Amino acid sequence: MAAQRPERPLSDRRHLMITGGSRGIGAAVCRLAARDGWNVSLTYRSDATAAAGVVADVQRAGARALSMRADVSDEAALASAFARSVAVLGPLEGLVINAGMLGPSGTLLDLTAERIRRTVDVNVTGAILTARDGARSMALSKGGTGGTMVVVSSTAARIGSPNEFVDYAASKGAMDTLTLGLSKELAAEGIRVNAVRPGLIETAIHADAGVPDRVARLSSVVPMGRGGTAEEVAETILWLLSPAASYVTGAIVDVAGGR
Ligand code: NAP
Repeated sequence: MAAQRPERPLSDRRHLMITGGSRGIGAAVCRLAARDGWNVSLTYRSDATAAAGVVADVQRAGARALSMRADVSDEAALASAFARSVAVLGPLEGLVINAGMLGPSGTLLDLTAERIRRTVDVNVTGAILTARDGARSMALSKGGTGGTMVVVSSTAARIGSPNEFVDYAASKGAMDTLTLGLSKELAAEGIRVNAVRPGLIETAIHADAGVPDRVARLSSVVPMGRGGTAEEVAETILWLLSPAASYVTGAIVDVAGGR
């Protein structure tokens, strides 16, 4: 029989960690999490100024926050970030596996081994390491209190992103499979695991991939006729993390305007 989750006073702010929380979807999750009663730890890769801005916003909303520089593909750096966040904010109860990257847009014929390895290192290896470290902290069998994880996949996982980023799409396909496996493996540990698949969302990831106008250019292929906002994705993530989704695990939720 699965162990029961201990009761906690409602007044306690719980600890949510978000990888890649300094910008875009991750930053929106941090801000909404403060609204919804979480304390927030976030990781980032390089943009310390953006991370500090998110920390200040979360603190202004009345929550505790800290940021840690850690590339998710660096196992030791990631483990240090988990250890520090738990030492400062207490036991982890929520985790958003969000950090991800998109290489320059192009066809299969343009891809190099170096670029493919980096995409897989960050988007796949980094996500699995993040899930592992989170589970080590939350699992009932390890003395944790259980919790919830949300994996940030992409509609690319089911569209395939031909002529744009097939390596990225393949890495996001792995996120869907990871979500299914983790939800089954971790259920008895008191951990729910779900995923969101954002569609075309207005963040800097497109400009970083060399296509700043991508969302505007492709919005006509979205049934709702527009790109989405980081906040629209974050609201779905916050719902999956909340007790309102207490019987939801292994779900992959499209936040994509019908695309
Ligand atoms: P973004 O605006 O580019 O933000 C990416 C965040 O991840 C930043 O905080 C960045 O930190 C961090 N990051 C990047 N590489 C990292 C690494 N190796 N280690 C640790 N942190 C790293 O991207 P976004 O659009 O919000 O995307 C967030 C997630 O949503 C990604 O997994 C992406 O694949 C997914 N997604 C996005 C869209 C979309 O249209 N925007 C659609 C579907 C899925 P720094 O600021 O320090 O670099």
